[in-house]
Amino acid sequence: MSLYIRVLPLVQSDKLLRMTAKAFKMDLKNLSFLHNKAYVNGEWVSAKSGKTFNVLNPATGELIGDVPDMDLQDVQVAIKAAHDAFPSWSSITAKERGILLRKWYDLMEKNAEEIAKIVTLEAGKPLAESKGEVAYGNSFVDWFAEEARRIHGEVLQSPIKSKEMVLIKQPIGVAALITPWNFPQAMITRKAGAALAAGCTCVIKPAEDTPFTALALCDLAAQAGIPKGVINVVTSDRPNAPTVGKELCESPLIAGLSFTGSTEVGKLLYQQCASGIKRVGLELGGNAPFIVFNSADIDKAVDGAIASKFRNCGQTCVSANRFLIQDGIFDKFVEKLKERMINLKLGNGIQSDVNQGPLINKAQVNKVEGIVKDAVDKGATVVCGGQRATEIGEQFYQPTLLTNIKTDMLCYLEEIFGPVAVCIKFSSEDEAVTISNCTKRGLAGYFYSNDVTQVWRVAKKMEVGMVGVNEGIISSAEAAFGGIKESGIGREGSHHGIEEFVYVKYICFGNLQ
Ligand code: ADP
Repeated sequence: MSLYIRVLPLVQSDKLLRMTAKAFKMDLKNLSFLHNKAYVNGEWVSAKSGKTFNVLNPATGELIGDVPDMDLQDVQVAIKAAHDAFPSWSSITAKERGILLRKWYDLMEKNAEEIAKIVTLEAGKPLAESKGEVAYGNSFVDWFAEEARRIHGEVLQSPIKSKEMVLIKQPIGVAALITPWNFPQAMITRKAGAALAAGCTCVIKPAEDTPFTALALCDLAAQAGIPKGVINVVTSDRPNAPTVGKELCESPLIAGLSFTGSTEVGKLLYQQCASGIKRVGLELGGNAPFIVFNSADIDKAVDGAIASKFRNCGQTCVSANRFLIQDGIFDKFVEKLKERMINLKLGNGIQSDVNQGPLINKAQVNKVEGIVKDAVDKGATVVCGGQRATEIGEQFYQPTLLTNIKTDMLCYLEEIFGPVAVCIKFSSEDEAVTISNCTKRGLAGYFYSNDVTQVWRVAKKMEVGMVGVNEGIISSAEAAFGGIKESGIGREGSHHGIEEFVYVKYICFGNLQ
């Protein structure tokens, strides 16, 4: 049976609801990589306290399983394991590390279908998107397996005859990797791929909503022959995250932290890392503008808008947050966007024809609901959606299109992280650029224009780390991902991604003559 419900009208019979509930269940026994233990020093382990926490399927609210709720003493063991593994991992050749990473990549490719199912199960995203995430996530391991051999130093032109001067790059040591739930696979591979290629070992703390994907990746890393202690995964529930996170920042055995998550937590971790002058990479929240100028191809812009806004139900840091539409095409764009939005199919992502899953947890649903209510209370117009889709499940929210936006509305000021498209009308290019840049965030920005002079001008003026020109999906292993302003520090992917995990050592050879 095809399982989907059009967003409007929301009509569903009792019979369909019962069948839906049945179809929502997935046979967990068929998922051979679903581990309910953490992975430390090459072993599947429980928390020393014996405590566990439950992980729920956001589409159904059903229990997927439980994992160890680790605390300070557990993370210290993991850090020590990574520290002990560092001398041997960093001293094998880059080529050998590349070969092991390639084996890990091959296994992740071979088992992509199952990993994608686990992603859908715990993150709720539609299966096609999970497959896309796994392909994307795997591409970082493929990329860094090759990049390992290209971590080159430099031979300098010495100004003194009796001296030769050389710069070499060396791995920083143990890397702490703290990751979010919205890309449970790719946020790990993007960091761990680079760290391992550079010669670092790592301790990963995945998000409490999505630990199973991280643990599945450990299984495949072990099968690939990556030695014990090189990758460690510590699972903790939210109340333990601050203690575990603090240790990952402050332990003298940790050399650097790479974090993806909220700006609020990122700022805290940045402060904690200051005490030990740790290397820090932060990928934080965005507030992406998506500008459509009068000269744009509107249909392509609508395609890009749907891809950027509704991927993972709007729960991505590069998701378009504010649509800025020029006055000459505003009405047409809004009408076309609405047509596409009302045809999005909500449901359990495990069903192949669903393209909108649930929000990750109740807090996120409440947040989105609050943002829409605030906008409506302050005079916004709801073009479509505007409510929870409780007929489908507790954590579903209707794709929502808002116009008549004012600058004091939360939807204008904050990262929405949900399926709410906000359209703002503008007249001039300067106005669009000013609105784009009037935020402390600066991760991604998008614009659609067929005026070549405008394209270069606006791309340069946007205060963001990444720009999509006539394109709504921009991420790639070959490209440098990262933000400016309060959206973060450092870059992931590309050859720049490696730089986060190496330091430059200057070696001076003297008295040569
Ligand atoms: P979100 O609000 O989207 O869950 P967070 O930034 O809160 O984003 O979470 C991202 C990651 O940071 C998760 O792995 C989470 O457990 C972790 N985290 C949350 N709070 C802290 C903290 N105080 N210290 C370290 N890690 C934390």
